[in-house]
Order: sequence, then C-alpha cells, then structure tokens
Amino acid sequence: MVRTRRTPARSRPTALAAALTCVVALFTAGCTGDDNDGFRPGAADAGDPYVPGHGNGGYDVTHYGLDVRYDPSTDRLTGRAVITATATQDLSRFNLDLVGLDVGTVRVGDAAADHGRADAELVVTPRDGLPRGRQFTVTVDYAGVPTAVEDGSLGSGGFLHTADGAVALGQPDSAATWFPVNDHPSDKATYDLAVTVPDGLAALSNGVPGPKSSAAGWTTWRWSERAPMASYLSTLVIGDYRVVTGTHAGRPMVTAVAASLPATGAAATSLARTGEIVDFLASRFGPYPFDSYGGIVIADDRVGYALETQSRPVYGPAFFADDRPNPGVVAHELAHQWFGDSVSLARWGDIWLNEGFASYAEWLWEEHDGGRTAQRNFELQYAKTDWSQPSVEPGRELMFGTAVYQRGALAVHALRRTVGDDTFFRILRTWTAERAAGNATTADLVALAERVAGRQLRPLFDAWLVGGSAPTLP
Ligand SMILES: [Zn+2]
Repeated sequence: MVRTRRTPARSRPTALAAALTCVVALFTAGCTGDDNDGFRPGAADAGDPYVPGHGNGGYDVTHYGLDVRYDPSTDRLTGRAVITATATQDLSRFNLDLVGLDVGTVRVGDAAADHGRADAELVVTPRDGLPRGRQFTVTVDYAGVPTAVEDGSLGSGGFLHTADGAVALGQPDSAATWFPVNDHPSDKATYDLAVTVPDGLAALSNGVPGPKSSAAGWTTWRWSERAPMASYLSTLVIGDYRVVTGTHAGRPMVTAVAASLPATGAAATSLARTGEIVDFLASRFGPYPFDSYGGIVIADDRVGYALETQSRPVYGPAFFADDRPNPGVVAHELAHQWFGDSVSLARWGDIWLNEGFASYAEWLWEEHDGGRTAQRNFELQYAKTDWSQPSVEPGRELMFGTAVYQRGALAVHALRRTVGDDTFFRILRTWTAERAAGNATTADLVALAERVAGRQLRPLFDAWLVGGSAPTLP
C-alpha cells in the first residue's frame, strides 16, 4: 500500500475494540462448555493483536467460490459463497468473518447447518462435528447493503458505493464487507469469482478473466485467482471503465481506468508501463509469481491510497493528480506482488516485510528510470530518519508509518551494502522462490539471509530495523 494523505493515523475507538473482544470471548473454546467427545469450537480470532476479532481458528481454507450480484441503483449485493476448507482440529463449531449483510441458509456439505451472528462473526454449527483433517465445504447464501470501513489515515475502504458502481478494497480489512471469509493473511486460498452487474458496466477483480455472459440486461464477469491469495488482497471494482485486455509474457494483462479520467492522461500512461516495470522487477526479484497482470485506476477520491490487490493493483486518483505521470507508485504496488502477495505476512506486526521491500523497489525503479540512485535515496532518507520508531512491531497506529516504509527500505539497502550485490540479489531471489505462495516472518527472513550469505546478519537487521539510535553506515 501507498497512501497519499500524510495525516497521522488515528487509533480505533477503544470502546469498540473492547466490545469486540467481549463478543469474541463468548465464542472462544472453553467459554461455553460445549465440549463433546473432544470436539470443540474453533477460535473466533486469529490471535493477531493488530486486528482483534479478525480471522478464525480450527480450519484452513483452500478455496473461495464466490457468486455475487450487485445492483448500483439499490446498492444491494446478493451472494453465494462456497468455501472449501480442512478442519485443523476436531471441530464442533467454527466462525467466519462477515460484516453486516443478512445470512439466509448455511450448509456444511449437503446438510443444513445452524448459524448465528455476533457482531462481525458468522458462527456455523454443523450437524455433525468435523474430525481433524476432514475437508468440507460451507455454502453461505447472503444479501444486503455492504458497508464501508473508515480509517482516519487512509480514507475509506471496505465496500464503497461509488457514483457509477462500487469498489471493494482495503488493508488490513475489507473482504468481510462483501463475503464470508477467514479474514487474516495467515489463511491464504485460491478464488473463483462470478460477478453479475447491469449491462454496460465493467466488473473487475483479481486473476485471469473467464468467459462473460449476458442475460436479461445483466452481464456476468468471471475471474480466477489460482495462486493462494490473502483475503485483504481481493478486490471488486464495478463501474464505467475503459478496460484494455491483452497479453504480456504469454499471460493475460487486464488494465482499467475510470472512464471519467482522461483517456491519455497520467493515469492511463503510467498504468500502460505495467509490463515494462514488472519485467524490470522480475530481473531483480526472480520470476513474476502470478498468471495474470494488470492494474485499475479508480476515480473515487475517498480512496486515498493505492493497494497491491493480487495481480491487479488498485490506484486511487490522487496519485495522478495534476496529470503528473507516476510510475513510482506502479513500481511500489507491483513489487508487492513478490513481497506481500506471493510471500505474505503471518502477522501484521511484520508489515515492514511488505512495505520496506516495496519502498526499496521504488528506489531501484527510480535509478533504472534515470532518476536518483538507490544509494542517494538511502543517504537522504538516513539523514532524516527518526530512529526511535521501530520497523518491526510498529503498533497498530503506526502500521502504515514512516518507520515501516522508509526505515524498512534503509534496512534492505544496508543489507545490500553489507553483503554485496551478488549475495543481496541471491537472498531476494531465494526468499521469493522458497517462500512463494506462503507466509513468513522477520525471523524467517533473517535466517534465510544468514544461510544464503553464510554469515551472521541478525545484529545488522536488529540495528537497522529496531535499534534506538542511528546505525553505523555500512
Ligand atoms: Zn505498499
């Protein structure tokens, strides 16, 4: 993510967080005493303090099959989610995250399941317990007017009703505003989406486009993301767009610019460099990890950020204000396809692993594109860094703060200066290859860097990421 607004982050209301924790506690194993032959409820929370209440335990999702219909004239969404998962414990009951929306029927396999709601949780009790290791499907029929997620520092996310349609995106949370989901990046899954909208509107999402079909004034667009995806990287963009469909390196390339923006303006020309930029990044980071490419520029200025939605980043309009080209933001979001999307966080406290590398990619791109060298950007940033703020475990309020982005990038360049270019790029390519399609932590990166470099690097990472004073220049 890159944000355009520099207002200080605002913490979530404490009362809301406390209330959510209480609700969650009601549904935590041991609270309700309904153990039955060792079967017990899955946790109602992934245990990540940055996102209390988000994610769930007791199962692992492998696939979401989503079929949604959205009518902009009423702002109403109707959906069916078919979720394929595997029980990771003997499971009597489990939760999905779902914000608002009314749930009709829920089935586990072919059998109707009891279900209830508790704030942003959908609690599903299958007729029979699910033994550990059992693969199962959950089918949820739901409908309603989806809701936005407001964040003081980022602007709006979640599901936003726009002038001509809707946009669903946001970090760290957005997915649960339009489908039931295990909403934490630690549980990645593949996706198939069919989205039905009035004829004449585009409906864009992640991955490879499938066949479109029309009936009775409605068009169904189909998308398939075959590489595991964290839920916050899913997106849905509906509206009046100029959609360009082609191929790049033998894979589908789909870009779209809101029709209300100039056809040959900065947004369109910056987005048109997607293939060139992705090829440059692949020459540094290793093969591009997904089977499609693209990007979407929206016109709704409530979205004050760009987000690395998988295979097809979404850019807010402010990045191209005054019709200035901005390939830097494209380089940032495309770098996330390796750092964040393919190799994903296990916990939000490690978000520098996403943003430090994506910010560093901006420096690499700028040098490649004839601007400042990475070394010069490093020197300038070093001189103005506040070393009291840590990159790792920045706290929820500073999750998108300067230490995560710029101090993270400094740490990456310090590693490069210390081990030399050959070893540095070998570390990056080994990381993106070995951890592709998975999750990782800061400790995993340090261990891998030490293995590839054949030397101790923990003190270097500690000094550059979390030390309280300016580290010695390497
Ligand atoms: Zn970013």
